[in-house]
Amino acid sequence: MSTARGQLVVISGPSGAGKTSVCRALKQHPDVEFSVSATTRMMRDGERDAVDYHFLTRDDFQRRLAENQLLEWATYNGNMYGTPRWPMDQALARGKTFLVEIEVKGTRQLRERGTPGLYIFIAPPSLDELRRRLQKRGSNDAIEIEQRVRIAEEELAAARDQVAGAPLYDVILENRDLDATIRAVQERLWP
Ligand code: 5GP
Repeated sequence: MSTARGQLVVISGPSGAGKTSVCRALKQHPDVEFSVSATTRMMRDGERDAVDYHFLTRDDFQRRLAENQLLEWATYNGNMYGTPRWPMDQALARGKTFLVEIEVKGTRQLRERGTPGLYIFIAPPSLDELRRRLQKRGSNDAIEIEQRVRIAEEELAAARDQVAGAPLYDVILENRDLDATIRAVQERLWP
């Protein structure tokens, strides 16, 4: 059994940029474990509780926050999202690569606290292309798509920020071609 501590890998990027597809590919690797976030947003068709997210009421989310159970958290489009702390601690202690898929404000919290890890941002080729992908995915209505495009604009600007004199993200990848993006992430993870 490996005794080396594992690695945290943060994947973020605008909704529709392709980060979920990248994460799906990385999950195939036997050393990778994946964070299941808590959220107060409504469950979408096809989603499963405790698999895609832990779907919580606001009260329950607030309680977990007060009990310091969340590693980071953020509000996104009116809903709260957060990463449960103990699965990461357990995975890293077992030498695993622990993947969290989170937005930019949560990433900033981790960086500000000096949490070691590889921080990757997946960007869309353009906002028009992002809108097209969100429309094609069909899981958000027209208003929500425009809200997500607006948030994406902010996230793309924030992704180039510095935190304590260092870049927020170690790598920013423009996802033009999914296979190439997956390969680029894999090369960073397992050089
Ligand atoms: P969605 O509603 O599309 O599932 O997620 C909306 C956004 O919240 C996405 O950018 C997603 O990566 C982000 N997100 C999901 N879980 C977490 C989390 O635990 N913490 C943070 N900060 N963001 C999350």
